[in-house]
Amino acid sequence: MMCLGLPQSVRACLFDLDGVLTRTAVVHAAAWKEMFDDFLRGREGEGFRPFSAGDYDTYVDGRPRADGVRTFLASRGIELPEGGSDDPPGRESVQGLGRRKNDLLLEKIREQGVEVYPGSVRYVEEVRKAGLHTAVVSSSKNCRDVLVSAGIEDLFGVRIDGLVAEKRGLPGKPAPDTFLAAARDLGVPAAGCAVFEDALAGMEAGRAGNFGYVVGVDRVGQAAELRRHGADVVVQDLADLTAQDRQEDSA
Ligand SMILES: [Mg+2]
Repeated sequence: MMCLGLPQSVRACLFDLDGVLTRTAVVHAAAWKEMFDDFLRGREGEGFRPFSAGDYDTYVDGRPRADGVRTFLASRGIELPEGGSDDPPGRESVQGLGRRKNDLLLEKIREQGVEVYPGSVRYVEEVRKAGLHTAVVSSSKNCRDVLVSAGIEDLFGVRIDGLVAEKRGLPGKPAPDTFLAAARDLGVPAAGCAVFEDALAGMEAGRAGNFGYVVGVDRVGQAAELRRHGADVVVQDLADLTAQDRQEDSA
């Protein structure tokens, strides 16, 4: 068996998408910032406090879109009506702001394409070669399109994304339900699953679901925060997990 840097008990690997498999977390962050800064400027004028990287990490990253809107606005003491799913993008409602963010995201993805992290793709391939099961677990409703654009949709036996979660009535991260659904669909108990996440909300989901192992992927220098929110190990790239094994082997 290949060295995967995981406990022997792990039979399945559950991967987040944006920021773990693909370089799309930065695109999400840019779309959220553009949308929220426009909104805040319109409300408070040029003296507004801009949406920051810390706001993204704490209130938005990893959560379903509408939860991200609500959680960030609450942090600024703002409450908006929920609105309907047919609210036009940009209307001052949770759904309207969420749709505006999604339009900006899709525009940026169309312009820039989807880039994968090569170390992650190699790691998923090794995991499969070793006979472990794989799933992708994402809050995004664009998950399937992003997987197809990146050419990696065949690497996952199960996909639990924002559309599946909505259909099954599953609460999103930081609740563990979407990860637990993936484990169930793969037929592996939570204790036999490793969770791979870059978001603080994802760490909490991993901890709340009592998964066997939680890998924090630190793309933005928040290793300590990832640990505090439940990571068993923190790496900068999934390739580091296999490198760790090689170092231990030769020690
Ligand atoms: Mg992520």
